[in-house]
Order: sequence, then C-alpha cells, then structure tokens
Amino acid sequence: MTTDTPAISPQAKAHILAQALPYIRKFHGKTMVIKYGGNAMTDPALQAAFAEDVVLLKLVGINPVVVHGGGPQIETLLKRLGKQGQFVQGMRVTDAETMEVVEWVLGGEVQQDIVGLINGAGGKAVGLTGRDGAMIRARKLRLADQQNPALEHDVGQVGDIVSIDPSAVKALQDDQFIPVVSPIGFGEQNESYNINADVVAAKLATVLQAEKLLMLTNIRGVLDKEGNLLTELTPRRIDELCEDGTISGGMIPKIAGALDAAKSGVNAVHIIDGRVPHALLLEVLGDQPFGTMIRSH
Ligand code: ADP
Ligand code: MG
Repeated sequence: MTTDTPAISPQAKAHILAQALPYIRKFHGKTMVIKYGGNAMTDPALQAAFAEDVVLLKLVGINPVVVHGGGPQIETLLKRLGKQGQFVQGMRVTDAETMEVVEWVLGGEVQQDIVGLINGAGGKAVGLTGRDGAMIRARKLRLADQQNPALEHDVGQVGDIVSIDPSAVKALQDDQFIPVVSPIGFGEQNESYNINADVVAAKLATVLQAEKLLMLTNIRGVLDKEGNLLTELTPRRIDELCEDGTISGGMIPKIAGALDAAKSGVNAVHIIDGRVPHALLLEVLGDQPFGTMIRSH
C-alpha cells in the first residue's frame, strides 16, 4: 500500500487478511456500484487509496463499477470562464454553455483521470459516458418545488433518467475490466443531459441488481439536526429529515437515490466517508459499521 500506515507485525497482517475471508467469499462474483465523489476525488493520497481499493476488490473476484461526480472540477472551469454556478434543490442549473463544460470536465478530464488512477494501481479501467453503448437515455428533468409541488423549477439541461441499458457495463466487467461511468445521458434528439451522479449510481445499481451501492462523500454520513451520525435510516425517518430540512443540498438527490436502490432490490446501500483512507475496504471487508446504512423498510 502506498499510503502511510503505522508498522504492523506480519502476524497482525495475516490475522487481518484472514478476517476478510468470509466477506471475500460472500461477495465473490457480486457487483458493487461505487459513487466516487467529494474529497476522495481531489486529495492525491485519498485518490491513490481509492484506486488501490477498487483494484483489490476486482482481484478478489468482486465487480466494482465506478460512477463519478465532479462538482468542484466543474465549478473551477466555470469560474475560469467567468460563469457562476447555481443550484436548485441540490441540482446544478445547466444552460447550454454549462452543459458543454460538464461534458468536457466529466466525460473528458475527470473520467480519464480516474481511469489513469485505477490503471496505475494495476487495474484495467474503461471510461464510458451514458452515450457509450447507448447506456443512459434521459429527458429534461421536471423539478417540482419541495415546499410547493405545484411549482416547477427550470434547471436547463439537467436530465431525468428514462432507462439504463447496462449491457456495455456487463460486457466490460465480465471481461476483467473496471467500468468508470460519467453521469451524462442522451435524449431523443441525441441532446446531452447532465445527471446527478448519485442518481445515476443508484439507478445503475438497480438495473445491475448490484449487491451493494456505496456512496463516498465528503462527510461522515447522514447527520441529524445536532450533527450526530445516523448509522441507520428507514424510509420514514428519511421523510422526516427531508421535511424538516435536516437533509438539504447535495444530500437530497443522494438520499433519494439511495432509498430508491434499497427499495428496488440492492441488498446493501451505504453512504460513507470518502475522507477516510481506504473507506471502500473498510466498508466491504471490515466488520465495523461505517457511515449510514439505508434500509428499504
Ligand atoms: P457529493 O455528491 O460529492 O458526495 P454533495 O455536496 O453533493 O457531495 O453532498 C454532500 C453534502 O450534503 C455534505 O457535504 C453536506 O454539506 C450536505 N448535507 C445536507 N444535509 C445533510 C445531512 N443531514 N447530513 C449530512 N450532509 C448533509
Ligand atoms: Mg452531489
């Protein structure tokens, strides 16, 4: 491992590895969709640890599928172009020019950086946008106001997923590759749509009938009003937290996607702290609860 860890004895190492065995056995051959976002995407040490985790999962026979975000990177380029990003209920308002930037940044720079990272750690990653393999069909999102559902917000070229055809992802993962998906969809006129990466990850996990959906973010998990970590959330509690405003901003599409996936047959859905090195391995192969688990009922 390239990240700094305190020296541990060979015996302790062997012990730790042996403890992972039941989980490796349980998850062998299963698909795990990983939403890669937040600090884990911008800090070099965390990036390296993430790539190692993904490659290790692949090597022990698990099929990781990465869906990435890129809010901060989009923001940086918009600023350079003298544009100010705007959000409504956690969704980025996307005019035609912003859409161009989203395609450059997500489908170009960010995707290829991640592909390079994973390859550097010894994996074979392949980048895809939703257009590749005709994967993600989308239409313009009609965003109802949270307080007043009769009101609708125009957020431009933000997409709502019509359908996901996972055959390209399946073909790649069956053939030792690690798919890296950029959250861009296409419409009936081949127009592009910017889709929230959490929403794409959740829907992809559902159509792949993934064993797990893991959402790496820039916070410990879902927090209550007092800032305490909620280790488990039921649909009812989620409703309450959304209604009283405890869940806001980028956590809204994340929790909605997470809940959707949990209700649609994804076995385990977790929102986890991407600021912790090796967050992925901790969740998948560790035996301590980590982050927030979303229950289906
Ligand atoms: P990403 O999609 O990269 O993980 P987002 O910024 O879109 O990051 O979403 C995570 C953010 O959601 C957190 O950094 C936090 O500011 C915000 N948030 C809103 N409500 C909550 C909540 N109840 N618990 C935790 N984070 C929340
Ligand atoms: Mg987000």
